[in-house]
Formats: sequence, C-alpha cells, structure tokens
Amino acid sequence: MTVDMTGKTVAITGASRGIGAAAARSFADAGANVVLMARDREAIASLAGEIGAAALAVPCDVTRYWEVETALAAAVKTFGRLDVLVNNAGVIDPIAAIAAADPEAWGQAIDINLKGVFHGVHAAIPLILDSGGGTIITVSSGAAVNALEGWSAYCSSKAGAKMLTACLHREMGDKGIRALGLSPGTVATDMQREIKASGVNAVSQLDWTDHIPPEWPAKALVWMCGPEADRWLGDDVSLRDPAVRAAVGVGG
Ligand code: NAP
Repeated sequence: MTVDMTGKTVAITGASRGIGAAAARSFADAGANVVLMARDREAIASLAGEIGAAALAVPCDVTRYWEVETALAAAVKTFGRLDVLVNNAGVIDPIAAIAAADPEAWGQAIDINLKGVFHGVHAAIPLILDSGGGTIITVSSGAAVNALEGWSAYCSSKAGAKMLTACLHREMGDKGIRALGLSPGTVATDMQREIKASGVNAVSQLDWTDHIPPEWPAKALVWMCGPEADRWLGDDVSLRDPAVRAAVGVGG
C-alpha cells in the first residue's frame, strides 16, 4: 500500500518524539510537506533539519488555542494549504487512583488529550475546507473503550476524543472533512517507559517486546489518508486488527 501525499500539507501535534516523530518521517517519505508541532522546540527543529525543506517546526502547546491556531496559520503561509491534521499529542500522567489523584494534574491531562484535540479540529476545519477538503486523524487508544485502574484521566480523555471524532464526522463528513481515529495498540515509546515505571495495572507488566515500533502507526496514519480507510470514518481504526496490518503493510 502507498498513498501518494505529494503536494499535500500535513500538520502533526506531538511531533517531537515517539509516534508523532515517526509519522512526520512517514508523511515526508510519502511526498508531503509536514508541520511539526510540540513544546520541545529543539527536538522539532532537529527533526525538521533531518527532513529538510519539506518540514516546518512550530513550537506549540496544544492546551493553548491561540498557539494551535497560529501554528496552523503558519502551515498555510509556508506551504499554501492544509490537507491533513494528525492530533497525536498526548500524555498518560497522572497515573493515580481517582481517590488519590491531584485535581490539577487530572485537569491537565484533559486539557492536552481532549481539549487539545478540540483546539486542533476547530482551527483546522476552515483551513482544510479552503484547501478543498481533507482528513483529521486523532490518535486514540484502547483506553478510550476500556477502563483501566489508575488511568482515569487518560481513559476519560481518550473516550472524549473518540466521541469528538464521531461528532466531527457527523457534522462535517458530508462537507469535505474525513474524521478518523487510530487505536495503535501498545507502542515502544517514552509513554510506555512511563507506564512500565509506574507498575500500575496490567499494561505496565507487558514485556517490552510486546510493543510495536512507532513506525507501524506512522505508516497506518499515511494509509488512513487514502480511500481504503473510508469504512472507518467517524470511528477508530485498530492496528491490532490483522486485516488492517496487512492493508497497511506492517507486521508480516
Ligand atoms: P510520547 O513519546 O510520550 O510522545 C508524546 C508527544 O506528545 C510528544 O511529542 C510531546 O511533545 C507531545 N505533547 C505532550 N503534551 C503536549 C502539549 N501540551 N502540547 C503539544 N504537544 C504535547 O508518546 P507516544 O506514545 O508517541 O504518544 C503519542 C500518542 O499516541 C498519544 O496521544 C498517546 O496517547 C497515543 N497512544 C500511545 C500508545 C503507546 O503505547 N505508546 C498507545 C495508544 C495510544 P512535547 O513534550 O515536546 O510537547
């Protein structure tokens, strides 16, 4: 499977490491211009340097609407259009029982994982429509539909983000916006290192070799921009599904 992204502009939140950084490389390999958004300005500048002229690094905290709006405007100013937004930025913290969780930290997870997605969607809609329509993908999780001990902030935020994808499809699916989520399974990134260190719930007990490499969801995100993924519009694509892996071309 290859989806040709030549001439397209793809903005990716949380592009400083992990799945987001791998996605930036995959979209650039597919021919796209990529806009790298994250708080770690050195990491995104370094990745943009590696990718070359097809990459623009824009420091951005997704909890601040005006920063997201400014970053996406910079994407259009630099590359002339916006075709795809990947809402990938996310955090697992706070890992804590509901009774013990710090309310500020709990709210911060919602601000990043749910409000941050709304910020991206809201700012991207008019820009994507101006470009003739496109795709908004949100990186989801099995935690959106499964309650896990100690992960109430993460599970609640991911469930909310999954519903936002469904609402976006309901409102804009017939107006030129393809809305989809990607549930990747467990991926070998810093987030899984944090989970392992916590020792909380069954996910922390997984062996490191159980996790897939970030290049797999990165390839899936490119594939989801093509018509083969249309049957999942408004819903999550699961990369645990062997048929999806085969279509994407990962996992042997
Ligand atoms: P990661 O390596 O920890 O990367 C998280 C990314 O999110 C970083 O680039 C980080 O950049 C960015 N981020 C965090 N807060 C941000 C903010 N306020 N504004 C902008 N960017 C922010 O984790 P990952 O595994 O690649 O996670 C990527 C996505 O996949 C997340 O949505 C996660 O929930 C989802 N996911 C991961 C797994 C897994 O097993 N790893 C499984 C299912 C779903 P800065 O710190 O530079 O801002």
